[in-house]
Amino acid sequence: MLATRAIQMFDETVSVVRVVTRWMDFYQHESCGKCSPCREGTYWLRQILHRLEAGQGREGDLELLEDICSNIGGRSFCALGMAAITPVQSGLKKFRDEFEAGLTTPAWELFPYEKTPVFNEGGER
Ligand code: SF4
Repeated sequence: MLATRAIQMFDETVSVVRVVTRWMDFYQHESCGKCSPCREGTYWLRQILHRLEAGQGREGDLELLEDICSNIGGRSFCALGMAAITPVQSGLKKFRDEFEAGLTTPAWELFPYEKTPVFNEGGER
């Protein structure tokens, strides 16, 4: 789902968990709060993603992400709800191992910033 008409491309040095977490920061911030599945759901998704990014995920977090997404999908008033869950669902489907790693290992350890070409191009981030 292309959603907001922006295309972002990442190579294998970038953490999918980190990327999805940044997107969820945006969606949670932009949720207007009119309907509870989106208002509460994006908040909970953001909390879980942040602890997975920090390598402090809890047992059952991946299933919880899926459960929350299924409660937002089709139950939100506008398209933001669907847009918010799409990267989580596709991330879990295509890069599940990275999310599982978030139970024990921080994203910065698995995908250090200094290993990315963008980081190295300018000499600093
Ligand atoms: S789905 Fe749309 S209307 Fe509902 S809380 Fe989210 S942004 Fe607001």
